[in-house]
Amino acid sequence: MKARTLLATALWLTLLPALAPAQTPAPIREITKLAGEVYRFRNNNHYSVFAVTPAGVIATDPINTEAAQWLKDEIRKRFNQPVKYLIYSHDHADHISGGQVFADTAIVVAHENAKRTIVAERRPTAVPQVTFSAEMSIELGGSLVELAYVGRNHSDNSIVMRFPKERLLFAVDFVPVESLAFRDFPDAYVQDWIESLRAVEAMDFDVLVPGHGPLGRKEHARMFREYLEELRAEVLRYAREGKSVDEVKQLVKMAKYETWTNYKEWLAPNVEGMYRHVQMHRRPN
Ligand SMILES: [Zn+2]
Repeated sequence: MKARTLLATALWLTLLPALAPAQTPAPIREITKLAGEVYRFRNNNHYSVFAVTPAGVIATDPINTEAAQWLKDEIRKRFNQPVKYLIYSHDHADHISGGQVFADTAIVVAHENAKRTIVAERRPTAVPQVTFSAEMSIELGGSLVELAYVGRNHSDNSIVMRFPKERLLFAVDFVPVESLAFRDFPDAYVQDWIESLRAVEAMDFDVLVPGHGPLGRKEHARMFREYLEELRAEVLRYAREGKSVDEVKQLVKMAKYETWTNYKEWLAPNVEGMYRHVQMHRRPN
């Protein structure tokens, strides 16, 4: 009996590591100062910005409930200011979940199309109370943030947020900094996207603050527009030659961009999404 108990114990011990819950690494959360009153908030691979004014804080994408709670606590500890505004970059849940954390003190702002989708798709966040269609300025404690809709791109409701004093522009998911586009252009409007990048290129700012990855400069808007235009031209040329999507995925290399982030992972899906787009917008006969 004793041997059996020992064996059972040994078995149990060897099973233990397998039964233990998988370790989820602690999220990486940081606040870094960008310039003037504007700070960048990081939660793993997602980023947003906030401005600390003498009359309160203007926050942007809350990212998720836990991240938002952490940010709210940090803002209270470091700056002792309430969050007066919460501005969503676009409706996608990986950026704007958790907005309810700030709803006790903040007015929630988004593009009118974002509100429609947030309600319809039941995004787990606070529903915007204030929406706009083209432009809106928010003034708080003598500081200004200018919100602008530059057309459809990565979604039909992405906006840019310009901090004129700091010469920063916060733009999420539609102006990647030396990175390919996300997968196969889900939820995207490719032709309008190119036009919206031209609108960003015409704006007055120096530093581009994306929702993922390192900071960029104004020229990154042009670089990404050129990537989209070149990709579209390549894919369209092969589509007109009658090539199948699988053939086009083999043929298109975009070698100029091989140092960009996600080149290996996302070139094939980028080609696939672009193929779908060009086929939908051409008439072969
Ligand atoms: Zn998105």
